[in-house]
Amino acid sequence: MYYLGLDIGGMSIKCGVVNEKGQLGYVCRAVTPIGDFPTAIRVIDELCRETARKAGIPWQDVQGIGAGAPGTVCGDIVTYATNLGWYNVPFVEELSRATGKRVAVGNDANCALLAEWRFGSAKGYDNVAMITLGTGVGTAFICDGRLLLGNGAACGEGGHMRIKNLGRKCNCGREDCWEIYASASSLQERAAALVEREPMGLLARLSGGQKVDGLTFFRALAEGDESCRQVLLEFQEDVVDGLVNIANLFRPKLIVMGGGICAQPTLLAPLEFMVNARTLGGKNNPHVEVTAATFDNDAGIIGGACLVIE
Ligand SMILES: [Zn+2]
Repeated sequence: MYYLGLDIGGMSIKCGVVNEKGQLGYVCRAVTPIGDFPTAIRVIDELCRETARKAGIPWQDVQGIGAGAPGTVCGDIVTYATNLGWYNVPFVEELSRATGKRVAVGNDANCALLAEWRFGSAKGYDNVAMITLGTGVGTAFICDGRLLLGNGAACGEGGHMRIKNLGRKCNCGREDCWEIYASASSLQERAAALVEREPMGLLARLSGGQKVDGLTFFRALAEGDESCRQVLLEFQEDVVDGLVNIANLFRPKLIVMGGGICAQPTLLAPLEFMVNARTLGGKNNPHVEVTAATFDNDAGIIGGACLVIE
């Protein structure tokens, strides 16, 4: 059985063939047309057909199309996706009309969690939080075996809880949101600041005048650089501040950490101990496991497909 999963991002749209076991095959990409919804549907329809064709799958064998979108998705409607310029667009109706297929759509963070829950790290768990450290911080929750949606399916914006009082502005209009301090972008900013502070330091030398990237940072860390270790520690403290809030609110049995930087054991490994030492009740309350996501970059596509896989 073949399904198509769509990961709709602000820069590009990825479409992949996924089978009923959650295995990903061929993937195609297109540039996201911002704002113009009819054009977006045309681009997505063409992308789906191109993906199936290049994968050698006859169009009639595609069982359904599932899409993850960056924003609020209520039923069949994408109600608010500001990065795409979509407001109350009838996504399911229009894409199923264009493709002739069964179509479903969900919030992208929820889709990533569905992929982990059905086929990845969170398989078999009834209480899971998924936290994705990327440009911002995405959160999604399964409580007592059900995906949390909230009123208008607008819940799960844990990246916008306030964790400090430093007056740093967030895109959402408030100040000091968790994602300002715990996103992958924040770690990159901290690394760049370290290069400024220590122009003769190991990180500055390894990045050789180029903009410092995550891989270079973790390389300097692996070589035992003390300043990098300090930067990582401060970053982890800020990540843990939010994780403890989430653990206290939802008491997940498992926290799945997504986003490329969470594949780094030096970042991830201490988090479980730190979270459990600080959540309410300490050892007297159930232990919270912290683990890396299985799918990383493909989670959006596989999770999109999960919406239509029976
Ligand atoms: Zn915010």
